[in-house]
Amino acid sequence: MIDKYGRPLEDLRITLTHVCNFSCFFCHMEGEGQEKQNGLSLHDIVLVTKVATKFGIKYVKLTGGEPTLRRDLPEIISSIKKVGIKEVSMTTNGVLLNTLAEKLKDAGLDRVNVSLHAIDKVKFKEITGVDAFDKVISGIRKAVEVGLKPVKLNFVVNKKNEEETIEFLKLAEDLGVNEVHLIELHPVGLGKESFSCHESLSKIEQYIKSNSIKSVIRNKHFRPRYYLKSGLIVEMVKPYSNPIFCAGCNRIRLTVDGKLKTCLYKTDKTIDIFSILKADLKDDVKEEVITHAFEIAISIREPNFKYMLYENKQAL
Ligand code: SAM
Repeated sequence: MIDKYGRPLEDLRITLTHVCNFSCFFCHMEGEGQEKQNGLSLHDIVLVTKVATKFGIKYVKLTGGEPTLRRDLPEIISSIKKVGIKEVSMTTNGVLLNTLAEKLKDAGLDRVNVSLHAIDKVKFKEITGVDAFDKVISGIRKAVEVGLKPVKLNFVVNKKNEEETIEFLKLAEDLGVNEVHLIELHPVGLGKESFSCHESLSKIEQYIKSNSIKSVIRNKHFRPRYYLKSGLIVEMVKPYSNPIFCAGCNRIRLTVDGKLKTCLYKTDKTIDIFSILKADLKDDVKEEVITHAFEIAISIREPNFKYMLYENKQAL
């Protein structure tokens, strides 16, 4: 379904839990605040996803908190696949991936994004709060080995790690991953308090561009993608004050506390479906109400950053 800004809806991003075993200093918490709720039930999540498919949702991204901390993660993945979702992926800090990757692949997980924000172990601990660099690396190796393809690495560029970016790309090539996302630090959640660490991606993008053999613009968020000689793809994620990024947004979110959230940046543009999910009603009744909630959510979706028409009437 297309919203009033001409943007199709294709992607549902589900926060499975707010609990996390890392404490990244810039965490945006998916724009949801810090409360440590336990998330919706498997049944709730599947019901919402089933309704989402009626509106054109083809892709589901599982996130958190740390999604691998949900014990029912394999069941969530397999059940979501059964309602007709084309691709289920997950963003994880990777620390439990060595143990879980095979099981998740068997459950139907198509691909994975692993966050890796430093290649120096001391810096890794400084950024994530946990001394787990080696575990994450073995998690990434396992994801590659079991074929959660494409394996993508997320690197939030900031003042603490920017000088490691080129080395990070080399490490990604050595690990045999397919893609990296260089992400600008967003001023959301803890990212607001730590925005003094924000670093522009312009210089590094220029370097990558001049070392690439091909570049394309992805439909999603109109993100630039650069193809390196090694085969590694580098995608730039630059949402801040970027109307072009918002113009290509095809995403809606399901929060831990049962809200349809229409934009990472907006806390007011949400539709609360928690009480209907928890109501003592039959599923077909819930589906009807949630369908209506999606219609409303789509009608209020709007780009956070957009070009505004400025009419200086006095000058006329
Ligand atoms: N725990 C998982 C992880 O570390 O990937 C999933 C949750 S995390 C909130 C999802 C993604 O958002 C990660 O790639 C993370 O690095 C990124 N992220 C978190 N805070 C951010 C911020 N302030 N700006 C940009 N990206 C951020």
